[in-house]
Amino acid sequence: MPQLPLTSYFGQGITAVDTGYVRPRLDASHVILRDGHAAFVDTGTTHSVPDLLQGLRGAGATPEQVDYVFLTHIHLDHAGGAGELVKHLPDAKVVVHPRGAGHLVHPEKLVEGTKAVYGEQEFGRLYGEIPGIPAERIVQTEDGMTVRLGESELELIHTPGHALHHYCIVDPDSESVFTGDTFGISYRIFDSAKGPFIFPATTPVHFDPEQAHASLDRIMSYRPKSVFLTHYSRVGNPELLVKDMHRELDEYVRIAHRCADAGMERLEKMKQQMHAHLVKRVREHGCKLDQATVDLWLEMDVDLNAKGLSVWLDRKKA
Ligand SMILES: [Zn+2]
Repeated sequence: MPQLPLTSYFGQGITAVDTGYVRPRLDASHVILRDGHAAFVDTGTTHSVPDLLQGLRGAGATPEQVDYVFLTHIHLDHAGGAGELVKHLPDAKVVVHPRGAGHLVHPEKLVEGTKAVYGEQEFGRLYGEIPGIPAERIVQTEDGMTVRLGESELELIHTPGHALHHYCIVDPDSESVFTGDTFGISYRIFDSAKGPFIFPATTPVHFDPEQAHASLDRIMSYRPKSVFLTHYSRVGNPELLVKDMHRELDEYVRIAHRCADAGMERLEKMKQQMHAHLVKRVREHGCKLDQATVDLWLEMDVDLNAKGLSVWLDRKKA
């Protein structure tokens, strides 16, 4: 299977730039360039900034041409790089959901929360320093607002489910939607003759299955021909993939309920069942990778997804 290059052009001024987060082709930023005006969609981490600036030049734009940095949500693999990036973009505004805006100005709580999930040392390796963003550079989204980029008009829609601070960017010119984590995760390494392999991201602490289903429907109401995921970049045929997403959300909820009363074992049991389920699906999808590689690519998401389901179970009970 030929590997996607680290910078890929998809037409309509859209370029995917690998952020280098964890390993190649796991976390993408996208540059949209329209009529001499540029925007980033998601930023990876502080460590990603040199690659983002190089990708911007590769896309044919200068830092001065960047009007917007769209952050689909403030999880740090999407927004961690924004503070460092905007130091290099003299005219760019950072566009963020109102629930996330305060955390970008004062990132201490966000950093603390992420350290609680990953540990101090791993945090430094993955994310580095997170500078705050001056409040005057931040634009807060409203559901359904439009933003002009050159002659293009992008619509921002609030899409809770993965996170309450999540929005997606509808781009009529490319007939696509930039979905952050709302349309799940689809690593190009699992592509097969059957097409992309996709699964939901049920990360702590806001995951909510009902909202996640509704947000998928909202995205599909625009009838996109493709969706751009942060993990990882463009997938076509969303009307087919959305069926996988709805079915898998239901399956995750079943796994959560099955393990709900397992006490101290709950998280471990959920991880085991989710891992077994995903491995079975990957194999049915025709993936011929060795087991260690499959496990490597599923490990982090299984861990985060199980934790997110566990938090959801506790919230539901409270
Ligand atoms: Zn996320």
